[in-house]
Amino acid sequence: MDIKQMVKQDQEVIKLHNKQLVLEVIRKHRPISRAEISKATKMSATSIGRIVNELSGEGLVKETSLTSTGVGRKAIKLDIEPGGRYSIGVDIQKKRILIGVMDFSEKLVLKEQVVHTAEEAAPEATAALIAQTVRQCLEDRGIERSKVAGIGVGTPGVIDHAGGIVLLSATLGWRNIPLSAMLFEATGFNTVIDNDLKVKILGEYLFGSTKGLDKTVLINVGTGIGASLIINGEIFRGGSNSAGELGHTTLDPNGNLCSCGKRGCLQTYIEESALLAEARRIKPIEDIMQLFEAARAQETWAMEIMHRTSLYIGITINNIVCLYNPDTVIISGDLVENYGEILELIQEQCRTVIWEQFRDSLKVIASELAGQAIVMGAGALALQLDKQP
Ligand SMILES: [Zn+2]
Repeated sequence: MDIKQMVKQDQEVIKLHNKQLVLEVIRKHRPISRAEISKATKMSATSIGRIVNELSGEGLVKETSLTSTGVGRKAIKLDIEPGGRYSIGVDIQKKRILIGVMDFSEKLVLKEQVVHTAEEAAPEATAALIAQTVRQCLEDRGIERSKVAGIGVGTPGVIDHAGGIVLLSATLGWRNIPLSAMLFEATGFNTVIDNDLKVKILGEYLFGSTKGLDKTVLINVGTGIGASLIINGEIFRGGSNSAGELGHTTLDPNGNLCSCGKRGCLQTYIEESALLAEARRIKPIEDIMQLFEAARAQETWAMEIMHRTSLYIGITINNIVCLYNPDTVIISGDLVENYGEILELIQEQCRTVIWEQFRDSLKVIASELAGQAIVMGAGALALQLDKQP
């Protein structure tokens, strides 16, 4: 390549970069005027005018009926075109897959749930099912494939986020599954994958109960126990993207034997199967909902179990808060979704078990997006895949 060609290529890269930057500024600060974009990007009014024209020609940006206030000529505010681009969020859990289509304004325009047990199928079959459902969703909404930025997936387990590989998922029965590549092959869309709780806290941070709060912890309690953290606005990953394996933190070294071979792991006290086992020592209940019903009916044995569960969660929150000093702790998962009363019990415990230093400033809240957080977080991840406006 000669120098002329190299210079030309560099200019193309800069042009593309500037265009992405302008689109990002519009997305984040919409509605916004051309002058405000110019100020935010430190680019000239002429450049902004040209780039905005290109973006609107591509159907990504539109003028609104709003104008800027203040002195001088009124300037028309710009917004993004919701139908200009779409992304797909996928939430794979033990017995179901949830798929959501998110538009460019980051609203879920379509949700589809399919019953599927990944453990009983080959991963290829799971990928094929996702591909088929995605195809159907796009067809139903009349969305052109060219407008889809890509697919984001949240899945339980240890995930190689950069390599797109599910290293180990006990929930899905998968080991070393190159899920990103498989989904690319099955759908033709670029795919990014991450651990479900990391995607979930991203969803809450971008759209939900902790929107914009950049020191947050999410604790998930249900059939499994886990946590994820946002620190300074970034997902905290740890050395091998495994930060947050809360279920195997030790609560009592002489306690119950855990599936991991150690004694007294947190999950042996508060996960669904542990609550069921505890309840069945008193009553032969069929499922966890019967325990919740009994607690609601003020039956002493059931209230005692829920009380103890909230104490253990309170202690766990204290440990996390002493280590990371977050502003907010989100409680999510099946337990709080099916027995919302637990939140108040946990808050009550926190008033005594949280170290005084942090007690007043810490907020313990329920997940706002609940069942939608993972598809929304995954959709947001996928939207970042498409760097070329
Ligand atoms: Zn364990």
